[in-house]
Amino acid sequence: MSRLILIIVIIALVYWLLTSPRRQQRKQEQQPPKSAQDMVSCAQCGLNLPKNESVFVDGKYFCSTAHSLAQKGK
Ligand SMILES: [Zn+2]
Repeated sequence: MSRLILIIVIIALVYWLLTSPRRQQRKQEQQPPKSAQDMVSCAQCGLNLPKNESVFVDGKYFCSTAHSLAQKGK
């Protein structure tokens, strides 16, 4: 009977070893890759920059607050 428990434990251990790398892969997939960052272009000068670094004013993206003010002043 104890041998059966040992076999079950070994099978469970092998199964865990086979599935654990997949779990790590899934975690990596959930994190957004840095290269796939959303890029936007400035409505004033056309400069491409990451969305999180841009200034969003009146539905348009700008590279700086100075350019967003320049667009408003038009
Ligand atoms: Zn600009």
